[in-house]
Amino acid sequence: MDDACPTCGRWPPRARLQSPADYLALCAHLGALAEQDLLDIVDGTCPLVELPAIARTGSWPADTITHRMRCTRCQRELLLVADTLHGSASWTTAHATPPADADPAPAEGGSPANAQRRTT
Ligand SMILES: [Zn+2]
Repeated sequence: MDDACPTCGRWPPRARLQSPADYLALCAHLGALAEQDLLDIVDGTCPLVELPAIARTGSWPADTITHRMRCTRCQRELLLVADTLHGSASWTTAHATPPADADPAPAEGGSPANAQRRTT
């Protein structure tokens, strides 16, 4: 159970975000985590928290927006890449070696943002 990081333990190793709205929701979520020092933004095309505001202007800062970040608790690296030309985005976590006794990953197509937004 040591591997169940309270910050990123529930995040799937890979996720595909089908819509800009999903991507921006995730950016806002990750940006909030960064502001709480739960996430370290290692590298990025532009400030993560400013992306939703930038997107509202109707123009993206680049054709490919990349953010590399690291969980400050377990040092797991996360890579979030958005292809603004094709309107798709994906996310990958490095060193994704889930423990054998881990809970099954969320259903296919679920994004980390949705995982956080669990309705009770
Ligand atoms: Zn973590």
